[in-house]
Amino acid sequence: MHDMPAEPRVPHFSSAKVAATSWGFGDGQAIPWEYAPAPEARDIVKLKERYGLFIGGREVPSSDGEVFATVDPATELVLAHVSKATPADIDKAVRSARRAGSRSWGNLPGRERAKYLFRIARIMQERSREFAILESMDSGKPIKESRDVDVPLAAAHFWYYAGWADKLEYAFPGRTAHPLGVAAQIIPWNFPLLMLSWKIAPALAAGNTVVLKPASTTPLTALLFAEVCREADLPPGVVNIVPGPGAVGMSLVTHPGVAKVAFTGSTEIGRLIAKGVAGTDKALTLELGGKAANIVFDDAPLDQAVEGIVNGIYFNQGEVCCAGSRLLVQESIAETLIDKLKDRLSTIRVGDPLDKNTDVGAINSRAQLEKITELVQSGVDEGAELYQPACDLPERGYFFRPTLFTNVAQSHRIAREEIFGPVLATLTFRTPDEAVEKANNTAYGLSAGIWTDKGSRILHMASKMRAGVVWANTFNRFDPTSPFGGYKESGFGREGGMHGLHAYVRLEDR
Ligand code: NDP
Repeated sequence: MHDMPAEPRVPHFSSAKVAATSWGFGDGQAIPWEYAPAPEARDIVKLKERYGLFIGGREVPSSDGEVFATVDPATELVLAHVSKATPADIDKAVRSARRAGSRSWGNLPGRERAKYLFRIARIMQERSREFAILESMDSGKPIKESRDVDVPLAAAHFWYYAGWADKLEYAFPGRTAHPLGVAAQIIPWNFPLLMLSWKIAPALAAGNTVVLKPASTTPLTALLFAEVCREADLPPGVVNIVPGPGAVGMSLVTHPGVAKVAFTGSTEIGRLIAKGVAGTDKALTLELGGKAANIVFDDAPLDQAVEGIVNGIYFNQGEVCCAGSRLLVQESIAETLIDKLKDRLSTIRVGDPLDKNTDVGAINSRAQLEKITELVQSGVDEGAELYQPACDLPERGYFFRPTLFTNVAQSHRIAREEIFGPVLATLTFRTPDEAVEKANNTAYGLSAGIWTDKGSRILHMASKMRAGVVWANTFNRFDPTSPFGGYKESGFGREGGMHGLHAYVRLEDR
């Protein structure tokens, strides 16, 4: 690994009310013990100094030989250099995908495609530890999340869609499903391997071929996945992986050989992609940002709700499009709930992503850390009350304390904008109608959470939420069989389940 030039660290908030370490009592009473370090060994990951593009089943350099560095956000050290795709490489990758579509892959019956998907799922499981460690190194997420959530779910998507590959006639009764052709897939950095599997597994199951561009800060697990494709003997060109900058993503979107575009990322880039596709007959799905309300009623099991709130916003450092970033609490229990939440926050461990005890790892990049810092400062400036538990942050790396805002107004930027960091904005409500009004008062519509003892209230609230996913008495649960997607500025189209297959087929009446 190579040292990066030192840059100034992001300043701390002078206005932050930092509580004394309490380890769960919420009264400033410190318990004099700490968790012993439990570092995950990294030797299973064999980092190469340089990675190529994956085109036509082979690792190749970019057409102009240029590379870019990918950095470990927990140490600020360069992990590896990766070939930077050019428009010429994109053209090569799309041609290779088209060839595979019209020859090898296109001629395989569903049951044969299924065998490849099963094989990929199995190899991912066999290499799960390697994937999890590499994912945590490249993205900054805690190992316990990449090990227990990202990688198992990624493999589960391949298992699930493998099952559909020979059953498309049952998925779409009375109609014949045809693949669309080459799918251009662009994914973000918050769940690199998981987003890859959400996109590649249904596309291949339905008979399409793929050109995928990972995010520039997290290309490594996609390139390890390229190795899995080779190990599974996937015919060359069925999957192509082309790391490169945003601009090269746009040349993929606008390539005339592409039939379908699937994008996950910011609403801003989603808009550009929609413009790039406009006027063509390309199919498009967009999974964009969110600003979800997590609504807690006075009859909710409060301790359970606190766990759900913590999981909703501090999971993956809050870098989650469906994060429960707005907490709506019924006024009568607000004080009690916030006290419990502050207690719980003081037990959250922030630090080395590869330590098995870490709850909140590193923010993915310096740019993202700066964005979070700026938005949190705006919250303080606009008059919200900030709380951060006392915790030491590592000397190096992009870390941010779990942050809780109270006294938040709906007009505050922290209540309106997607922060994509471990920052929770709390608002209160008195009646269910007011909760609905506030929850839906957002440009986004990706997810929502409801905490209450009453089943009838869950059903009532769920039917009023303008959100693609509504969790009841839980949050951030994912399953390959369940569709996921948004309303309004959170995008359109669904991924996961049978809905996810639908986005990759053209249906013809029989
Ligand atoms: P982007 O939307 O810019 O990035 C997502 C993907 O799109 C990356 O692969 C990126 O490539 C690519 N991309 C960037 N520009 C273009 C373009 N013009 N044409 C085609 N593809 C492009 O998100 P950021 O990484 O910049 O994050 C910014 C903010 O977006 C975050 O702070 C967060 O609020 C939000 N976000 C939301 C996500 C979600 O899942 N809803 C995921 C990620 C971010 P490259 O990495 O090379 O720039």
